[in-house]
Amino acid sequence: MAELAWGAATDAGQIRASNEDHLWADGQLFAVADGMGGHQAGEVASALAVSRLSSALAQPDPTADALVAAIEDANREIFAASATDPDQQGMGTTITALALISRATDGEDTDDDAYLVLGNVGDSRTYRIRHGVLEQVTVDHSYVQELVAGGHISPAEARTHPRRNIVTRALGIEPEIEVDSWRVELYRGDRYILCSDGLVDEVPDDDILEIATSHSDPTEAARALVDTANANGGHDNISVVVVDVIDGAEPPPPNTEADPVATGWDESTDEIPVIDDSDTDDETTPAESVEGETAVDGETVGDSADTENAETDAAAPARPRRRSRLWTFILGIGAAAVLVFGSAIFAAWARSGYFVDFDNDDRVVVYKGQPSTILWFNPTVSADTGRIRDALDERSIELVEDRFRFDSLAAAERFVTERLELAEDDRRTGS
Ligand code: MG
Repeated sequence: MAELAWGAATDAGQIRASNEDHLWADGQLFAVADGMGGHQAGEVASALAVSRLSSALAQPDPTADALVAAIEDANREIFAASATDPDQQGMGTTITALALISRATDGEDTDDDAYLVLGNVGDSRTYRIRHGVLEQVTVDHSYVQELVAGGHISPAEARTHPRRNIVTRALGIEPEIEVDSWRVELYRGDRYILCSDGLVDEVPDDDILEIATSHSDPTEAARALVDTANANGGHDNISVVVVDVIDGAEPPPPNTEADPVATGWDESTDEIPVIDDSDTDDETTPAESVEGETAVDGETVGDSADTENAETDAAAPARPRRRSRLWTFILGIGAAAVLVFGSAIFAAWARSGYFVDFDNDDRVVVYKGQPSTILWFNPTVSADTGRIRDALDERSIELVEDRFRFDSLAAAERFVTERLELAEDDRRTGS
């Protein structure tokens, strides 16, 4: 099998009381999971995802499908646990994972040897460094990524956007999950960096590249990245796994067609990363912008955005146009009806209830809506409680970060007055 070297580091960061990230690195599987949810349930979700993947990949001779199947299993398991245990309600996790797959076990008649499968859900990332260039291989499933893809904001603006932590796809939130996956060839000298957003939010890509390339030892590189994120503020849990390809073919020259990851995805797999845009106004999904062609067969058209492309795609092969248009119309109407009813129910749910959290200025506020992870239905502020993070003791800060949910505004405000304690210093000075 191919020779890899790897190292990993994780830290709770400077603000959070606990580390809800989990990581894994054993030569067969490399993974980072970033959990979310109150009562430390995020920790449960990320641990569950990593252990489900590691046991699946520990089976003898895993195939290329094993990783995606394991991620789907983990999703179902977390969703079920979250539905049965009130303390774990709404928990979820991201996952970004690389698995080493032997070609022999994949039925391919060659002894050269192995390749990597990359799977991703959420806004943790896998980067690759080749020829001294850092590229993000995965596509974030996040609100700001949708804004970037739609041309509404720049990648630089996304970095500091107040809603940058809203994830649009995560394990455990829905009964089924769509997993982005890539097949990645092993090229000598490639370095992969798997990380949670605790790194990305604190360390710009240029610095990630500089730090990673100044440490040849993967463990030292992972450690240095985590240390830098902490030095830059450490507002979130930080996890980094670094994987080096020690042997393998000579990598293709830079910026060529033969360099598959550089063009966004690997043509050897049918899996194309697609951001779920089933209800947005954005015309361009990353899959369209990368691939440049959309399904044009009327029967495969799944939503209204595709319908438009089917109508306008000049490269569409000759086909019975009337029938195709009719099918496109019927399916379009059906899809629209499903979207309207589904969206109405979803919107009602997304805007229901209240929760307590810090706002961007670290004031304790009561929000109306569902905390985070809920697509583009941003919670709105219902009440400013007059409390600020700095005045609270550590336990109270944790309580706020747990983002408890309430049926009424009054219940949320009662929670703030009865449960949140001021820090010692503030009590003494009477502030
Ligand atoms: Mg995080």
